[in-house]
Amino acid sequence: MKVLKFGGTSVANAKNIALVKNIVANSQVNKNIVVVSALGGVTDLLLSTATLASAQDNTYKNSLKEIEERHLITIKELIPVLQQSKVLSKVKSELNTLETLLEGAYLIGEITPKLSDKIVSYGELLSSYIISEYFIAEQLNCSYKDSRELIKTNSNFGKAIVDFATTNSNCKEFFTAVPEQVIVMGGFIASSTSGDSTTLGRGGSDYTAAIIASAIDAELLEIWTDVSGMYTANPRIVKQAMPIPHISYEEAMELSHFGAKVLYPPTIQPVLSKGISIVIKNTFDAENEGTLITKNKNELGKTVRGISHVEHIALLSLEGPGMVGIPGISKRFFEVLSQANISVVLITQASSEHSICVGVSDNDAIKAVQIVNEAFEYEISLGKIKPVIAEEDLAIIALVGDNMKRHQGLSGKMFSTLGKNNVNIRAIAQGASERNISAVIVKDDVKKALNTLHEEFFEDNTKQLNLFVMGVGNVGTKFLNQIQQQRKFLKENLKLNIRVIGISNSRTMVFDEDGISLKSWDEKLKAGEKTDKQKFFENIQKLNYRNSIFVDNTASAEVSETYASYLKNSISVVTCNKIACSSEYNNYKNLKDLARKYNAPFLFETNVGAGLPIIDTLKNLIASGDKILKIQAVLSGSLNFLFNNFNDQSTFHDIVKQAQEQGYTEPDPKIDLSGIDVMRKILILARESGNKIDIEEITNTPFLPEESLATTNNEDFFASLIKYEADFQKMFKEANDTGSKLKYVAQYEDGKASVGLQHIPKGHDFYNLEGSDNIVLFYTERYPNQPMIIKGAGAGAEVTASGIFADIIRIGNF
Ligand code: ADP
Ligand code: ASP
Ligand code: MG
Repeated sequence: MKVLKFGGTSVANAKNIALVKNIVANSQVNKNIVVVSALGGVTDLLLSTATLASAQDNTYKNSLKEIEERHLITIKELIPVLQQSKVLSKVKSELNTLETLLEGAYLIGEITPKLSDKIVSYGELLSSYIISEYFIAEQLNCSYKDSRELIKTNSNFGKAIVDFATTNSNCKEFFTAVPEQVIVMGGFIASSTSGDSTTLGRGGSDYTAAIIASAIDAELLEIWTDVSGMYTANPRIVKQAMPIPHISYEEAMELSHFGAKVLYPPTIQPVLSKGISIVIKNTFDAENEGTLITKNKNELGKTVRGISHVEHIALLSLEGPGMVGIPGISKRFFEVLSQANISVVLITQASSEHSICVGVSDNDAIKAVQIVNEAFEYEISLGKIKPVIAEEDLAIIALVGDNMKRHQGLSGKMFSTLGKNNVNIRAIAQGASERNISAVIVKDDVKKALNTLHEEFFEDNTKQLNLFVMGVGNVGTKFLNQIQQQRKFLKENLKLNIRVIGISNSRTMVFDEDGISLKSWDEKLKAGEKTDKQKFFENIQKLNYRNSIFVDNTASAEVSETYASYLKNSISVVTCNKIACSSEYNNYKNLKDLARKYNAPFLFETNVGAGLPIIDTLKNLIASGDKILKIQAVLSGSLNFLFNNFNDQSTFHDIVKQAQEQGYTEPDPKIDLSGIDVMRKILILARESGNKIDIEEITNTPFLPEESLATTNNEDFFASLIKYEADFQKMFKEANDTGSKLKYVAQYEDGKASVGLQHIPKGHDFYNLEGSDNIVLFYTERYPNQPMIIKGAGAGAEVTASGIFADIIRIGNF
């Protein structure tokens, strides 16, 4: 004999019920007890209809209509026309009774738990009857049985307690005698000794199946649902979750206790004592092995078997000096809660004995506070205990595994993983069996916490980085291309899984929680919604993904002003935009401090020398105890290009024009030629060397005539270059006559920085600097005479993109 239970989704409609029939028809055993739930969603509908009726809201009739329709359509689609009338008339008569019950609730304006159970029982009564008739019509050797005749309970409506002695003997007697091979029954419903309909608690059909399996010593209990087994975490929240092939009763019980809804927690108990195995299988993928639940065979292997979570938790803390050393306080506390039927999901006690903290359901919070405060009124009046308060909107997450007790350091790993991702932990508990470690966190962090922990304990140490990219011009486009090319490599070699979740340019923005395909991001972006920087931020904040990185590929001051809000939400910032780091010192400092405080890296390697590892090298020197004595650098690819090409055979004007056309300068070339851009760069290097310095403190000796500097548009600017050509030629000649080259040099020494054009003699490190290359010389305590030199292409979209990419990888390895 075998018991097969089919859940709400499995029997939601005619199409699904046909799949159920195939599964039952293929079962190899001589007797199959098929326990079914109500058609998916019907239990919720019945409850909401009853609530409407009892609130004397007329619209309950519409809900009732919907319930009727669902059943009638299912019958019409399932049962051949010739056999339909009998089934339809029976179902209609049941629906009439249901209507009368609801009318009663409407007239009295009230619904008792007893009436509620009566009403809600129609879900399973109707589904099981319809399915049995369909099986019969499909030639299965089948009969129907009303579960209420077999499963007997007390009168604790809503979640009745089973009378096992009577139930077991009823089941044994009935199933031994019943001749058919398939018996269809409703789950969840039962009846009290006085004959009233009762229910076993939401999700209780699993329990019905387990009770029967145990009573008749079934060889197997199969739970057929809409997922392929019990997963390492709720698959709806953790995309990378996977089915657990084999798990012990205790582990399954613990996971379901902490919210793995796939199995109703009490289900395990009846079969555990008989050693009957449970298999959880997928009605929509019947071939899939699913999950096998048996006794612990002490298989070594995974220490953490699964992660689950319960939402809607409130934390009550009983604390005060009066608790120390006085025995019985906690006993009284728990008694009060239990007398009020409030179940405690989690308990923690501070080692000081100063406080006890319990997790209860949000629904029970107000009542719990009230009764506990009443019970301890005397102690509270004496100031020995503080009045209890409830902190609501929390959730519990739990790591579960039989072998966890054998491994040290799991809780450390759990909490540091959560901490790194800025998940605030409100309380911690470890089950006495050491089979679980649980933490109470705020509800909004659940998704992030589950995914982070899942990644840590199940995903082969692969770390997922979630990128939000603003700005997809030259650099941004190259950056996205590079990610697309490297994704596979990074995953395999660095265990980094990079996903781009959001992209925005100045016109539109697009989000895809599963990652935007990098092959077609531009089409998606075009079809996106209108850009709104604040909304872009809010979306990221709402998604609350772990390892979120905001990438700024713009040159916008407005965008740079949003960094602080990202960092404050533990969202890292990577930027090639120099504005923030070269703004007022306090702003720069604030961003660096926020990054530290919120554990969110703020990286801007590309602000100096594009992809060259200049800032990172500087940081490493300092971190390892070195001290910067002097920095000398050519940091402007544009200026280097200009002075490498300008000579007595050309005009300065033409070379600047050429540089502008080839993209070597900013659209406004004056930003480069005035030295502003280089000032910003040396400022950033000076700051990263540990100096509090502002841009006004940098000495800038301009080589442009005042008139050129004063122009306000490109046309006037270029005209002024023609006008002063003789001065430029003089500048060239003076250098050339001494065998030197002109280089625009930035310098930092003794807390002072300067920028300006210099004559560089042959043999100097700068002399042979080609094209638009950059060079930096770091003179430090460890490199006092022979500086550390970093040299290479210092401008261009491709290298800048690769510099941003390198910052992303730094965060990945963080
Ligand atoms: P049924 O109606 O078949 O009883 P349920 O909705 O009660 O199905 O349970 C199945 C659902 O449980 C899945 O669709 C999934 O959303 C949820 N679930 C939560 N945690 C887990 C988990 N760890 N493994 C599998 N499913 C889970
Ligand atoms: N139909 C009931 C519910 O939705 C029982 C079950 O499906 O297990 O809670
Ligand atoms: Mg269920």
